[in-house]
Amino acid sequence: MKFNRLILSLLIAVAFFILAGFVYYYSTLGAVEVITPDEGSTKMESLSPAGPANCLIQMTADFGLTKKLVTYPDIPSPGDFMIIEGGPFDNPDNLTLAFDFPGALSQQYSVGNLIYIIVGISCDTEPGLYQLAFKKGIGEDPAAGETVLAKNIEIAPKEFAFSRFSMPADRTAGWTTARLEEDREKVRQARETTEPHPLWTDPFISPLEGRISSQYGAVRVINNNPPRRHVGLDIAADEGTPVVSTNRGIVRLAEFLLSGGNTVIVDHGMGLSSSYLHLDEMAVEPGQWVECGALIGTLGMTGYATGPHLHWEVNIGQDAVNPEQLLDGDLLWVPPAYVSKMVSEKVN
Ligand SMILES: [Zn+2]
Repeated sequence: MKFNRLILSLLIAVAFFILAGFVYYYSTLGAVEVITPDEGSTKMESLSPAGPANCLIQMTADFGLTKKLVTYPDIPSPGDFMIIEGGPFDNPDNLTLAFDFPGALSQQYSVGNLIYIIVGISCDTEPGLYQLAFKKGIGEDPAAGETVLAKNIEIAPKEFAFSRFSMPADRTAGWTTARLEEDREKVRQARETTEPHPLWTDPFISPLEGRISSQYGAVRVINNNPPRRHVGLDIAADEGTPVVSTNRGIVRLAEFLLSGGNTVIVDHGMGLSSSYLHLDEMAVEPGQWVECGALIGTLGMTGYATGPHLHWEVNIGQDAVNPEQLLDGDLLWVPPAYVSKMVSEKVN
């Protein structure tokens, strides 16, 4: 009897352990089945283009290939420019970047299967949420093509300074509409003439050490004329102070213009150019190659200026962007693939 009870107890214990093992095994399976899709859906939400503005990655359905759309700065302001790198793409030269805010687009530069591009955001852009999208089709309506990769971006609010001042009437003596139009056309052509790849490899530098006398984007009323936006950065210093090129490039214009006075425009490639106005003397000629920090001329007050200052302007195509941003060392990084291409092919 005692022996039978012992066997029964052992059987019950064995059955209990077997049952407990099954319960544990199935509960583990259950847990895995529940957790996996949860984790998956959480990831997909944060990575989808409809997610938060700072999301960087979009998963593609095909074989889990990950395309990235990296933007810098992450939350730009009106008047800023933004560096964009996207890919990898099967055929990057068949894609166009579309965006739904007023702005300018640099030339597109592809390195391997990546696209590198600069977008200028108009000073007049309302703050809010917008979208950048790489779409199929070149030279067509960029908004119409099929979206290959997209990212939402937030544009922060920005206050621009307002000022009112007067200029002596004799500063515009002898100006004619025809000559002003001729000057504008020369500037337009100079900014349009560009190399298809970045000419810089080092960080951009300030062309002049001095006092900021007028901010980029400031709205100014001069002599009760209609308000106009100041599209450059004014830096004041002593007359004759050397003015240097902000980076490597090719001089596209160096001549006297009515409003700009002695004006130099340097092409840095991809449609990005820098302009130096009101110079006293000019030290370069059109077509000349300049290195970063090379002498452009000396500080003056030629053209529409009442004191010695440099009007430093940075443009993407014909649109002005914030020059101070160029001095953020991380901003115009050169994609590593481009640097290795430059080294291997000795690209200038
Ligand atoms: Zn200015």
